[in-house]
This record gives sequence, C-alpha cells and structure tokens, in this order.
Amino acid sequence: MAVGRAHGRPAGAHPHLRPRRAARRVAAAGRLAACQVRRPPQPPPDRQEPTVSAPPTDVDVLVVGGGPVGLLTGILLGRAGLQVAVVERWPERYPLPRACTIDHEALRILQAAGVMADHADLFEPSVGARGGYQFRNGEGELLMAIDWNRPAESGWANTNGFHQPSLEAVLEDLAVTTPGVTVHRGWSFASTDQDDDGATTLLTGEHPVSVRSRWVIGADGANSAVRTHLGIEVGDSGFEADWLVVDYRPLVEQEWDAFVVQHCDPRQPATAVKSGPGRRRFEFMRRDDVTPEQLGQESTAWALMAPFGVTPETAELERHAVYTFRGRWAQTWRVGRTFLAGDAAHLMPPFMGQGLCAGLRDARALAWRLALVHRGLADPAVLDSYGPERAGHVREIIDEAVAAGRVICELDPARAAARDAEMRRALADPSDTKEPPHPRLGHPSITVPGQDAAGRLAPQARVRVDGVTSLFDDIVGGDWQLIGRATTPELDDDTAAWFAGLGGTVTAVSPAGPVVDVDGAYGAWFDAHDCDVVLARPDFYVFGVGVAADVPALLTQLRVALTVAGR
Ligand SMILES: Cc1cc2nc3c(=O)[nH]c(=O)nc-3n(C[C@H](O)[C@H](O)[C@H](O)COP(=O)(O)OP(=O)(O)OC[C@H]3O[C@@H](n4cnc5c(N)ncnc54)[C@H](O)[C@@H]3O)c2cc1C
Repeated sequence: MAVGRAHGRPAGAHPHLRPRRAARRVAAAGRLAACQVRRPPQPPPDRQEPTVSAPPTDVDVLVVGGGPVGLLTGILLGRAGLQVAVVERWPERYPLPRACTIDHEALRILQAAGVMADHADLFEPSVGARGGYQFRNGEGELLMAIDWNRPAESGWANTNGFHQPSLEAVLEDLAVTTPGVTVHRGWSFASTDQDDDGATTLLTGEHPVSVRSRWVIGADGANSAVRTHLGIEVGDSGFEADWLVVDYRPLVEQEWDAFVVQHCDPRQPATAVKSGPGRRRFEFMRRDDVTPEQLGQESTAWALMAPFGVTPETAELERHAVYTFRGRWAQTWRVGRTFLAGDAAHLMPPFMGQGLCAGLRDARALAWRLALVHRGLADPAVLDSYGPERAGHVREIIDEAVAAGRVICELDPARAAARDAEMRRALADPSDTKEPPHPRLGHPSITVPGQDAAGRLAPQARVRVDGVTSLFDDIVGGDWQLIGRATTPELDDDTAAWFAGLGGTVTAVSPAGPVVDVDGAYGAWFDAHDCDVVLARPDFYVFGVGVAADVPALLTQLRVALTVAGR
C-alpha cells in the first residue's frame, strides 16, 4: 500500500510503522523535552487581528458561539430575514484545524449559505483505490473499505478534504456581510432567563451586558456553558481515547493510493488522511506506555511519521495537538426558547468525519424552523421536532463512529488478530466496499409517515435551463422544492400562493426540459423510490413522495404539519 509513501524519502523509511523504533523515540522525546500536551494555538498564515467588538443589542436570535456552527446558523437566519447576533468569547478565531473532511450534504448546506459560489476550491474531493476509505491491519492487509468516492445525492463529491480555519474565515466574512447579522467577539455567555415572550441573556466581556432576544441558540462547543446553565444531561457511549493530531504540508510530491487509511495496527493505531488542497494529516493513538505529555511533543510527531516517509526534509509541520475522542450527546436539545446545536449537542470520535457535518445539519434544521415560526408561517410547535429529528439522526452516526473507533483503537494483539480474522471473513468479496451511513431523521419528524423515502436525503444534481448548466439549487432553488419527473405538479391557486409564500418552487426535471435532467440523476432517483413527485424540505430531507395525483394530498399534509400545534 502506498499511503504515506513519499518520493525522495530518506533511505530506510518505510510506509508501515516500525513500532519498536517509534516507541523508543517517543519515550526519549518525553524525557528530553518539557511536557506540553495541549499546546497554545499556533497562528495560521491568515491570522486575524484580535477584535473585541461592541456588545450586541436586542435581536430576534442570540447565537452563543462563533465557531462554524454558530456562524452558519447566523448566516442562514440572517438570509431568512431575522436579526441575529453571534457572540463569541475569544477575540480571535480558533486557528487550529480540527475537522478535515466534510461530506456532500454539508457542502449543499454551505451552498445554500453562499459559500460554494466563490469557495468551492477549499475542498478536495475523495479519490483513491477501494472507495477511497480503507481499514488495514498491521500487515497492511485490507480489512474493510468504505465507498467515499461514490456519486452522492447532494450534487457534491461524497467526501472532501478541507482546512477548517479557512472555512471558518469564509463563514465569518459571510456572516458580517449578511444583512441583519452581527458578530461580537470578546463576549461570553453567563446565564439566560426565559419568559413567555423571550429570553434575557447575561454576557460578560469588558463589562456585563444583558441582551433581549426571542430565541437563544447554544452553539458553544463541547463544554457548552449554555447546556450546563440549562442543566441538560449528557449521554455517554463510554468510548474514550487520546490521539495526537499532526497537520503538515508536503514539500515533495507524495503518492497516496487512498484518501484515508485507518492503520488498525495494535502496535500503533494511526490514521492518514488527505486534509484539503496542499495538506496532509496523520493521527496517532496514545498507547498505554506513552503519557499524554510525551505524545504531545513535536519530536513525537516526527518520530511517528518517519516510518511513513514524512520527515522535516519532506514536510513542513503546521501543528500538532492531543485530543481526547469521545462519543456523547445531549439528552434534550431544547429548553423553552433555548436550543443546542453542533458540538454543544453531540460529540463523536472523528473516524467517520461527521462531527462538523452533523453540526451544519443542526444549523440548517433549526434555521428553517425558526424562520417560518418567526414569520408566522408555522406554529411554534414545529420547533419541538428539531431535537428528536436531529438526535435520532446523529445518534446513528455516533454509534457508527464509536464502532469504527473500537475497531481502530484495539491495542491487544490477540484481540486484534481475532478482529482481523472476523473482518476478513466479512469481506467475502474482496472488491466489496461498504456504503457510508445514510441515517434517516429521528421521530417524531415533519415528514409523511410510512414512506421509505420520507426523512431521507432528497437529490440535487445538474440541470440545464435556457442553455445554462448548473446545480439545481443554483438555477431553480427554493426552500421547499416540489419536483415532478415529467410534468410540473399542478396546485390550485390558494395552495400555490401559500406554497410560494413558504419560498417553495414547483418544477419538472426531465430529459426533455425545459429543466433538463443533465445526468439522468433525477430520473434514476424517481425510479429508485418508485415515484414521480418529491417534496423536499429546506434542509434537503424528503417530506414525502407520490405520483402526480398525490400532489394535493402531499401539500395538504405539509400545511397541516406546519400549522397544527401539538404534533
Ligand atoms: C481532531 C478532530 C478531528 C475532527 N475531524 C472531523 C472531520 O473530519 N469531519 C467533521 O465533520 N468533523 C470533525 N471533527 C469535529 C469538528 O471539528 C467539530 O464538530 C466542529 O468544529 C464543532 O463546531 P461547533 O461550532 O459546534 O463548535 P466549536 O468549533 O467548538 O465552536 C464553539 C465556539 O463557542 C465559543 N464559546 C464557548 N463557550 C462560550 C461562551 N460561554 N460564550 C461565548 N462563546 C463561547 C468557543 O470559543 C468556540 O469558538 C473533528 C474534531 C477533532 C477534535
């Protein structure tokens, strides 16, 4: 296997780890250098000037936390016409990359926020042998492959490498230029008091300040002060492992035959991943004979990467830091007028590359609901479905990530050998690749009950209109999308006016046009789901499907779902 093999690597370097040598060097590094596990953030090339801004004034929504989820939530709410303040405790953006892969659904959400129009080049699509995502044992033998190269239903590559600080810089620029959105750095959430009409939130900064808002969103990360203040309990998978994360820029061209490899080697579990254009990442699990302090040394990073041919001569180190990977979730996502989103609501080990993706889904799912309720187009009871829908979905992904972690993090040689034998048996056909997880929304959900497609992702693909070819959302768009296979679904005048008021669009996508199904993707999707019409929600999940005659009933069901309280 060629992952990690570098052209021009020093003599003796080998693409597989040499655990004995690596272990000796780790121990030596620990003795020689001062212990510094969680190092202070290192500046990225585009380091921003620290700014402490004026405190916010009263708004519709106060978002606590200016990480990627808080910023995206602010942008989406601002684009929907709400007044939003995003408050962030630190004067500077967090400069270290954490997420380094992002999926197609998250890119469609970023497309909706205006990111992809000018910044699609931030993302490097997954390519590589055996679906791109490989699990190999200590001898380099393939144990499992996941198809990260598959054509994905959202119109973007299934999985993409990227640099999180660069994305956060784009999100912050977009947030501060979105009408109705302000970002306030240097202000920390302290407490919130809720009443029938809104919430009064106390922030601390240069001085204490109270902000009145209709709703509050806690997007304040894993140690969420909002979650703690609300007394929300946290469930725990029991999974916990320390990993060293090392990001670097290759100085010589490197041949990687996969996009990600999990080296399930009990001597030294490791991950190699293409982490965006011009960047690579290795992650190394802490073994029992290594302290967190030893693992956090720069010399340890070089020692562990050397067997992969990555040395100071072949790579420029961008950063290294130790993280503890866990699988956790908030037991409730809403208390009154306050909601949780992102890492405040869920944490997972990064082995499926889904933590941030899940947070971006939260942002979209919450923003469309708040926007409709704010405009009086949906009953406030619609907000009740946010937590159950998102929690059901993310729990499945946390379970997958934890299960992958238990495979990868096995340090016992006998148990690892048994695991290998079992996985070899499961990989009966060596050309098999597994599908990545596609959970459906949890329940109760705002979908048509009893339909297999409902609560699953709706398609986006290329269409051509008047000679212009682009993705559907860029050409036709629509918050709610009613799409027919051959003929444009027909609505009576009252329903058409109501649906247009929601931001709905009604289209037919067919080989003949006028909206042309360029790649046949819509036709294939309708075939796969045995239907002729799909009604998709603003977060790109299917509300319901049917045939042309079902359209009036489908729209009536949506109207009832949005306007009748107490679903
Ligand atoms: C090593 C590693 C690898 C990962 N890889 C992937 C991956 O490949 N793909 C993926 O999808 N995900 C991945 N993740 C997960 C991903 O990085 C996180 O899910 C994501 O960054 C969470 O974003 P967030 O906005 O919810 O939280 P954060 O980014 O933590 O932002 C929260 C913000 O709230 C602020 N804040 C906190 N308290 C307060 C307060 N009291 N008042 C005001 N502000 C406050 C913080 O300063 C912070 O800026 C990875 C994570 C790690 C650690």
